[in-house]
Amino acid sequence: MDLALRSQFPDLPEILLWKTELMFSGIRFTDALARAVEDGATPNFYPHRRKAASGLVETIPVPYLFDLGGQAVARLRLDEHATMEVRRDADGRYALWSVAAAPRELCTVQFVRRHGWQDFRTSDGLTPFAAGAEQLGDMLVVNLAPGCEYFTVKGPHGPAPERCSFCAYGRFDRRSLTLGQEQGKLTLEPLALTRIEEVMAVAAADPTCGHVYITGGSVLDPADEVERFLPVLAAVRRGVGDRLRVTIGSGAVDPAGSQRYRDAGADSACYNLETWDAATFEACCPGKARHVGRQRWIDGLLGAVEVFGRGNVGSAFVAGLELRAPGPQMSPAAFLASATEGAAFLLDRGVVPLYSPLWPVEGTVYGPGDGIPPALFIQLQQAIHALRAARRFPVPGWLICPACSYMLLEVDFDRALGMEAA
Ligand code: SF4
Repeated sequence: MDLALRSQFPDLPEILLWKTELMFSGIRFTDALARAVEDGATPNFYPHRRKAASGLVETIPVPYLFDLGGQAVARLRLDEHATMEVRRDADGRYALWSVAAAPRELCTVQFVRRHGWQDFRTSDGLTPFAAGAEQLGDMLVVNLAPGCEYFTVKGPHGPAPERCSFCAYGRFDRRSLTLGQEQGKLTLEPLALTRIEEVMAVAAADPTCGHVYITGGSVLDPADEVERFLPVLAAVRRGVGDRLRVTIGSGAVDPAGSQRYRDAGADSACYNLETWDAATFEACCPGKARHVGRQRWIDGLLGAVEVFGRGNVGSAFVAGLELRAPGPQMSPAAFLASATEGAAFLLDRGVVPLYSPLWPVEGTVYGPGDGIPPALFIQLQQAIHALRAARRFPVPGWLICPACSYMLLEVDFDRALGMEAA
């Protein structure tokens, strides 16, 4: 297929450019997408919304992830201005079409299929999603406390001045209510823990599930972070037994906290710093900066390496915060220098950095044109891959793997350029 990025990156394998195009350009909605869900694709967390003839808004399920020929997965992103769309032929084959000019087929596509364990219902009748478990490729994401206390702090200029600038998912909303999470209350409902244990036991028996990632919103006092997550960790571990690897993705905690996580059953930890640049951290992650602090966050990561070992600690970053307000609006060159400085520092100390693109989301400060340009994102990935390659440090499969890396490129670079995790 023709790839717009090819002229800028003539030497990169096609799968990397192909996935980047899908991630950044998106596709238009077509009825074929709804049919794909009927045919067994995993449904997207965000359905397509449109006005029906009745005047009411209707929601239509669409697939979550493209399966790029078994080589990679990519998130399906709907954009009414996109120049690609999916069509289904009479034989049930799905194909990607370019509709920029005269419509033409680009290639056959498939979708990640729905896993059997999704049909399970808890003893009180909840779906796995309502019980706090989501399926992303082969990764089970457990989130029993999605409400983030940084969203609840009020400031002189309005509500939520402490939430991260890119985040729209930490609100206390219907999901947190269903899970029984209460604003300002540290402990979670015992019933929520029982449910997640039930769900995990069923999911772990399904051979398509590969690893578990526990996450959730932040609490205001970092000393409480471990208390919030320990019961969740213990319930998940009881549910999965020793079948699945479990990662704790809380806010950064001190080494004693990491040790308690490990004793409760965590195999690895991922504390997301979001940006390496100190000024960007202050501006874009004010809650993390005020309640934890950048140095304490970094110390927490390094302390976690002592507990879990080299390559068993990760940190996620949002690539591009540095380029836009409220960040310091760095030049692309300064951004690359800062990000690679941070990556080298962390890799040399056993921590794996991962970069997702800044993605403007409704309800945040970013407008549609504020995302990181795709070519700059690839440049960053090339530079970080070179750092990993020089250190023989592939992204470990516990953190992210080709079957769940749906909006990141690290594992695809490692795979395509010959450095895969064992
Ligand atoms: S810590 Fe930041 S990214 Fe995480 S849920 Fe809270 S506001 Fe969102």
